[in-house]
Amino acid sequence: MKVDMERLIEAVAATLRAHADDLTSLDQAIGDGDHGINMKRGFDAVADAKSDIVSLGVGAALQKIGMTLVMKVGGASGPLYGTLLMTLGKHWPAELNTNAVHAALGVAITALKKRGRSDVGEKTMLDVLAPVHRALASERAVNATFEQLLEAVTSAADMGLETTREMQATKGRASFLGERSVGHLDPGARSSQLIVRTICGVLGDKT
Ligand code: ADP
Ligand code: MG
Repeated sequence: MKVDMERLIEAVAATLRAHADDLTSLDQAIGDGDHGINMKRGFDAVADAKSDIVSLGVGAALQKIGMTLVMKVGGASGPLYGTLLMTLGKHWPAELNTNAVHAALGVAITALKKRGRSDVGEKTMLDVLAPVHRALASERAVNATFEQLLEAVTSAADMGLETTREMQATKGRASFLGERSVGHLDPGARSSQLIVRTICGVLGDKT
């Protein structure tokens, strides 16, 4: 498989532009209403730096994307997505296979948890990222075709997002609401699900 970084950047930036209002209204319900703007600003900056980024190998490109997000995204999500992608880039395997990507993503999620002092079940982006990580290692994924793997990853992201609805937030601004955070999807989980869906869409598109 070849990773077409240019297409991935364009597609993710377009998705976040198209869903900025959606992310903002989720963040209005349980945060401060800036998640849509934050993500759009971050990925617009990544798209602006596209020609520099695509000239790099995948690992270095991911690190540069992560650094751009740290610099451009105001709010908690910038440093957290930044840490995820910088670590993923640093550990990106020279030889691509599911196991190696699974291992690199595991290290990246651990770094995000450390940075956020957070874990699964706290109504954050981790509730999408951790199931996605698990899906890469599932029995099904190991014996799956590439299309089935993308399908498993996509549905893990969808299900992970949905689990955040009934969770009470214990990290980030949403935690200020206590029990009133229950009943709403987490905005960061939604942006993670959108990004994962978009990446799987591009990787699975043979046109
Ligand atoms: P801010 O909360 O500073 O306004 P954003 O609105 O851009 O930043 O991002 C909010 C999202 O960031 C949340 O919905 C959640 O998914 C994620 N988040 C916040 N704090 C943490 C944390 N400590 N660990 C993991 N994710 C977090
Ligand atoms: Mg916010």
